[in-house]
Amino acid sequence: MEFELSEEQQQMKMSVREFAQSEIAPHVSEWDETQHFPIELQPKLAELGLLGVLFPEQYGGSGLGYVEYVTVIEELSRVDGSVGISVAAHTSLCSNHIFQFGSESQKQKYLVPLASGNHLGAWGLTEPSAGSDASGTRTSAVKQNGGWVINGSKNFITHAIHADTCVAFASSDRSKRSKGITGFIFEKGTKGFSPSKKENKLGLRASETASVVFEDCQVPDDNRLGDEGMGFVNAMEILDGGRISIAALAVGIAQGAYESALRYSAERQQFGKPIQEFQAIQFKLADMAMQIDAARLLMYRAAAMKDAGRKTTKESSMAKLFASEVSVRVCEEAVQIHGGYGYTKDYPAEKYWRDSKLCTIGEGTSEIQRMIIAREILKHP
Ligand SMILES: Cc1cc2nc3c(=O)[nH]c(=O)nc-3n(C[C@H](O)[C@H](O)[C@H](O)COP(=O)(O)OP(=O)(O)OC[C@H]3O[C@@H](n4cnc5c(N)ncnc54)[C@H](O)[C@@H]3O)c2cc1C
Repeated sequence: MEFELSEEQQQMKMSVREFAQSEIAPHVSEWDETQHFPIELQPKLAELGLLGVLFPEQYGGSGLGYVEYVTVIEELSRVDGSVGISVAAHTSLCSNHIFQFGSESQKQKYLVPLASGNHLGAWGLTEPSAGSDASGTRTSAVKQNGGWVINGSKNFITHAIHADTCVAFASSDRSKRSKGITGFIFEKGTKGFSPSKKENKLGLRASETASVVFEDCQVPDDNRLGDEGMGFVNAMEILDGGRISIAALAVGIAQGAYESALRYSAERQQFGKPIQEFQAIQFKLADMAMQIDAARLLMYRAAAMKDAGRKTTKESSMAKLFASEVSVRVCEEAVQIHGGYGYTKDYPAEKYWRDSKLCTIGEGTSEIQRMIIAREILKHP
């Protein structure tokens, strides 16, 4: 059993950290305040190979695995969770769905530009009335002239406006529930496929979250992704990988908040000494460090299992659930350690706290993760 990153993985972690420090950190507050989605980062992330970490070089990727991928997401999120979630949605949802279930020609046409970072990806499962219960998908797919006509909408879609490629799901037979759902690939600019309302969010405000609308949108059968009726099953498998990246997002945000609290506790003096000399503050820092470590271990266990080709439904949910709840707690304590200043935008603690909350919601809420873990435990006692 190995608990350390290899020297190469450690070097990669440090180079992502430097990149985040120089290219992202100076803009974090402004992007958050103005809800600016930093599309200008895309070529820089692409140049470092950070938009295709998981995919083989033959498809334009970096040829690495989940251990490296979660390391990247953690380091980006340590500085700005908005960039972390953006890379995560692009990679382990959209691009990975095409990598796992696309035909060779779909991989050449769509995955290569996505993995090399020339194109940006989105993945749309959630609908206004089908969130936790995605099997209730209402967006419809009707076969016509050898292709498909899609009608409906998706909401809360990361990159709905800027994505060049969107994987989305529609039902051809609602009576079949999950077994009537099929995946499709949509290209930006396709007639009848358009972005809609952008959300004004609590946190992760520099990530773009918006709706997409399908109005008599015609796509050829070549754009069907995976077998007919397998869209939901495939999407659940994709979420097994995606949830490890939400664990990484949560760990990165928590780590950033913890470091800011540690720094502040050394600088801030009360009663004639730095507040980190008070045991009450030391115990908070101890709990924060311990919880982050435990979350990171669950994250790496799930990532290593994924790299070993093992099924990770339970381990991904455990990592995601634990890390996201740790993240919210750690960020709240970071605000507390900053006192009144933690409640202002002069310090980063309040932003980390706002950003952390998404981790308990996106890619399946905490309640849904507990249901998944319980189901898996009861299935394989
Ligand atoms: C910033 C952001 C980015 C997102 N990005 C994407 C994206 O790129 N693609 C995408 O497809 N989706 C995306 N989502 C959507 C996200 O996955 C959903 O919001 C999430 O799955 C929850 O669905 P919902 O919001 O409809 O909540 P609901 O399903 O309505 O849940 C409301 C509450 O009820 C609880 N609940 C529901 N069912 C049960 C049950 N059976 N038992 C117990 N409790 C239950 C939930 O846990 C929750 O607390 C994003 C969301 C956000 C906020």
